[in-house]
Amino acid sequence: MIKLYKKIALIGPPASGKTTQAERIEQKFNLPRLTTGQILRQNKNQKTEYGKPRNYIEKGKLVPDPLIVQIVKQHLSQPEFSEGFVLDGYPRTIKQAEALHDFKPLDIVLMLQLEDAKIQERASERMYCPECGETYHLRLKPPKRYGICDRCGSKLKAREDNSRTALKGQIKEYRNKTKKLVDFYEAYSKLEKIDANGTIENTWNQVKTRIKRDGDNV
Ligand code: AMP
Repeated sequence: MIKLYKKIALIGPPASGKTTQAERIEQKFNLPRLTTGQILRQNKNQKTEYGKPRNYIEKGKLVPDPLIVQIVKQHLSQPEFSEGFVLDGYPRTIKQAEALHDFKPLDIVLMLQLEDAKIQERASERMYCPECGETYHLRLKPPKRYGICDRCGSKLKAREDNSRTALKGQIKEYRNKTKKLVDFYEAYSKLEKIDANGTIENTWNQVKTRIKRDGDNV
């Protein structure tokens, strides 16, 4: 039997491939995935006490911690997440990490690392399905039919954070907030850095090796 870490989080700059790798883990190891960006995009117009998520997403700003912590806790309390999960895009701040640590501590945090030049190049080609939330990339993970979601057949949209301003905001947020996150998980020896500059396959080979608990081949 392959022994795996079962409470996993993927962190990394925009367009580093977090969702793609989280989907692979979900499919291969049957662990439910929670993609916070996807949940927020699907509820972008919902009014909350902090305003609508779209006001943050469009500027590349993080939604306030209390809002996202509440969303994540609600989801992780569902029975399907009791045995394990893959978090994609959470935690992004030290407050989020602390809240999760008190609630359901992670086994491992995979940090995807991507060069700045590649962030710009990859980010502009991201698309998603407004109906089911599936994500695509025009070059790296294209839909089978141009502009149409493979999963539900709906029309795809460019991400609302594809603009230069939003991307700049996201990179700034990432740089400002990640150092503390890294220190936090390094202190618990839970952080694994992964080179995400290569192909999806290359990143996947590193990811699956890191989530094994022992020397099994996966
Ligand atoms: P992503 O799809 O992970 O790139 O996230 C897209 C956008 O959703 C981010 O730029 C934020 O505005 C918002 N978002 C996603 N996850 C979080 C999070 N953990 N904390 C705050 N905002 C988030």
